[in-house]
Amino acid sequence: MKVASCILTAWLMSISCMKGQSVENQVDELIAKMTLEEKIAMIHGNTMFSSAGVERLGIPNLTYSDGPHGVRAEVSKDNWRPAGWKNDSSSYLPALSALASSWNIDLARGYGMILGSECKARGKIVSLAPGVNIHRTPLNGRNWEYMSEDPFLASRMAVEYIKGVQSQGVASCVKHFALNNQEYQRNSINVEVDERTLREIYLPAFEAAVKEGGVLSVMGAYNKIRGLWCCENSYMLNDILRKDWGFKGIVISDWNAVHNTTLAANSGLDVEMGTNKPFDQYYMANPMYEAVKKGDIPEQAIDQKVKNILYVMIKMDLINKPNYDDTGAEQKLATPEHCAVALKIAEEAIVLLKNENHKLPLDASKIKSVVVIGANADYKFSLGGGSTTIKAKYEITPLEGLKKYLGNRVRIDFAPGYRIVKGKQDTIDLKLFEDAIVLAKTADLVLYIGGLNHERGGDTEGSDKMSMKLPYKQDSLINEICKVNPNTIVTLMCGGPVELGEWYQKIPTLVQTSFIGMEGGNALARVIFGDINPSGKLTDSWPKKLTDSPALLLGEYPGSDGIEHYKEGLMVGYRYFDTKKVEPMFCFGYGLSYTSFEYDGLDIPPYWNNNDSAFSVSFTITNKGKREGKEISQLYIHQQKSSVERPYKELKGFSKVSLKPGESKKITITINRRALQYYDVSAKTWKDEAGKFEILIGSSSRDIKLKKEFVLVK
Ligand code: BGC
Repeated sequence: MKVASCILTAWLMSISCMKGQSVENQVDELIAKMTLEEKIAMIHGNTMFSSAGVERLGIPNLTYSDGPHGVRAEVSKDNWRPAGWKNDSSSYLPALSALASSWNIDLARGYGMILGSECKARGKIVSLAPGVNIHRTPLNGRNWEYMSEDPFLASRMAVEYIKGVQSQGVASCVKHFALNNQEYQRNSINVEVDERTLREIYLPAFEAAVKEGGVLSVMGAYNKIRGLWCCENSYMLNDILRKDWGFKGIVISDWNAVHNTTLAANSGLDVEMGTNKPFDQYYMANPMYEAVKKGDIPEQAIDQKVKNILYVMIKMDLINKPNYDDTGAEQKLATPEHCAVALKIAEEAIVLLKNENHKLPLDASKIKSVVVIGANADYKFSLGGGSTTIKAKYEITPLEGLKKYLGNRVRIDFAPGYRIVKGKQDTIDLKLFEDAIVLAKTADLVLYIGGLNHERGGDTEGSDKMSMKLPYKQDSLINEICKVNPNTIVTLMCGGPVELGEWYQKIPTLVQTSFIGMEGGNALARVIFGDINPSGKLTDSWPKKLTDSPALLLGEYPGSDGIEHYKEGLMVGYRYFDTKKVEPMFCFGYGLSYTSFEYDGLDIPPYWNNNDSAFSVSFTITNKGKREGKEISQLYIHQQKSSVERPYKELKGFSKVSLKPGESKKITITINRRALQYYDVSAKTWKDEAGKFEILIGSSSRDIKLKKEFVLVK
């Protein structure tokens, strides 16, 4: 009894001692008590999704979970098979490409909070998300998991998402750092990119995650940059991430992304995860221990990694805390509040691309029968996609959503028209095809719900798409449906652009959604029947055809001999279409509403003086229609003359506002100095040049409603 109380007093004293100290001192104190074996144990995985702590010092195991749109179901400790838990069904939120098309930063914060709280309930300390890689080519299999072609939009959404997750006492892990812009050869491709493009296009979302989001961890990507693997790349991890941006947290490798013990020791990487070897054989396990013992690697290199891990643990107040308690955890997953937010995000993620003669919204009271065609209408997407796989508590498919919305009053017939086949995107099932046409002929109204899927060659991890065309001969299917029934409304589910067939000219209406989560079917029905006025806008430019895409036209994709030069440089997405005056199918930032908005009264100061760090832009938006609606206004900057080539315009601000019919609101967007700057490679810093700039306010990147000049005076 006496011994026990002594131990307790010593423990309490050690905590209270630690409490008054700086984080750095607490870290040093813990490190001083650790053996080399204990330190090595902390820097590599000890299960598929954890790395070790040191029990005797109150340092917990770090537990990780995928992925961006929900907490991944538990996998076995030493292989990828499901652990078979009964209580790990979670919220299935819309994919990040969907979240970004809402352009709603409050929803991004709410999204992060749901994910954070569900990670917490599942005992996960690190949430392996968000993915912020830039959509460089429409073919990247993982674009649907990432936000946009535009670094500013990706940054804004990522910062709020991270703050939301971390507000719940869970660390975000922004990924995949960096230039993991394709799945094809992701484990070997070497990306060559010029420094300005790296800093202006591919890094800003990571930089914002660190500097503004305060992200506590970063995941190194699989690929190489300039000849060095991302997880062994000291320039990326030490020079840029830690020195330039001041990152103090943990760098975690992607699963199986380490290749060399010595390089990993000095690269700035802290934890090696997921190698296909016994855990103690990881590069940063026994081989690293031996190398330190032999004097090939200094122990300080290991100390630095452990310090980074402990820094995060102390910041998160994890030391000497009781282990995770799962009492009632299940009740904290997919709660009614979480489902309500998931519905809102899904509703705001839907983009209306065409709506001739105000065909939508449909009046449900006038409809007696509907034919739904398209396999996506009756398919559950939560279980696919790769590491994002979710065991969803439930998932309302579009067909279920329509049935629920219309009730028994309306007859609904369904024909898939094609089959989603594992591993093959180019098959056709003639019977399903013909059955669908027969059914379409008889219908008052056809709702076509097709698009991409999460099978190999679609919107999925581990492979890229072979083309931008719809799989399973859907173009022919929709063409035939339109011939027999012009009253066809098409909805395409896809995480980025697809090429549209001839049918596009014939149909009145086109709706796009990415994969929109457990409430997706309800959200779609509510948009189609007008309970919700669509307010999403595209986060990518849609090229008319694949060969219009700058990565293929000017740059290299998918690379040759394992190397890919990003020769298109800054000309990514609308930066290319606008600068080179090429007409896209749909431009970045485009999306229609059931109402219309008028912009006026752009008010900006005529000068931006050198000492001013920020600049306010205001204007008024009025809802001129008869329905309440939300408008996303976009602020682009155009510099008239510059000593370096600059894209014609770049997004530097946006706002989303809700307006009742007839209502006007004044919008103010404040931009900071970075909005004017480019990265000066020789000076290694951001720079702006005195002279004329133009503020462009648009309803999309091409529908510019207001513009005005100002002068930067130095
Ligand atoms: C993916 C990561 C994921 C990890 C763990 C990798 O294949 O690239 O995004 O977090 O697996 O599942």
